[in-house]
Amino acid sequence: MILAMSSGFVLDVGDLLTHPGRTRPVEVAGPIDAAIEHARVAGPVVVRLRLEGLTDGVFAKGVIEAPIHLVCNRCLTEWDEELVLEMKQLFARDLAEDIYRVEDQSIDLENPIRDEVFLVLPLVSICRESCLGLCATCGADLNTSPCQGHDEEEASPFALLKDLLPD
Ligand SMILES: [Zn+2]
Ligand SMILES: [Zn+2]
Repeated sequence: MILAMSSGFVLDVGDLLTHPGRTRPVEVAGPIDAAIEHARVAGPVVVRLRLEGLTDGVFAKGVIEAPIHLVCNRCLTEWDEELVLEMKQLFARDLAEDIYRVEDQSIDLENPIRDEVFLVLPLVSICRESCLGLCATCGADLNTSPCQGHDEEEASPFALLKDLLPD
């Protein structure tokens, strides 16, 4: 048997298991480790749920609020946003594949929360649609300091290529 690591997201639901139909609200907060190349969770995630006892498990429904830190894929500007998403998750009492379980009269919200957050982290984050990005030669942010061009560009094979590409 593998003992689960304890975390702030583990909730005792013994009272709900013995009283199917009973509901109660819970609010938990804690860190969630979720990051992809240009987006990551940047602080404690707050989760407000209503737990409902079922004859065969517990149903959790509510809202996740996660502060995320984003980096523009074009100009590397960084900013923060508050992500708000819905969560609906069944925790089953019986052993079943591909589903979260009630174990020792407890449910662990950490993995379900991480799954939900991962789904909405943007693979490509852009500060704004019209972002001009950085100059590939000097790294200047073309949004704020337009590059004056580079002499060596004329000799570069990329200059030829550039002329062939539409602007
Ligand atoms: Zn940008
Ligand atoms: Zn430049």
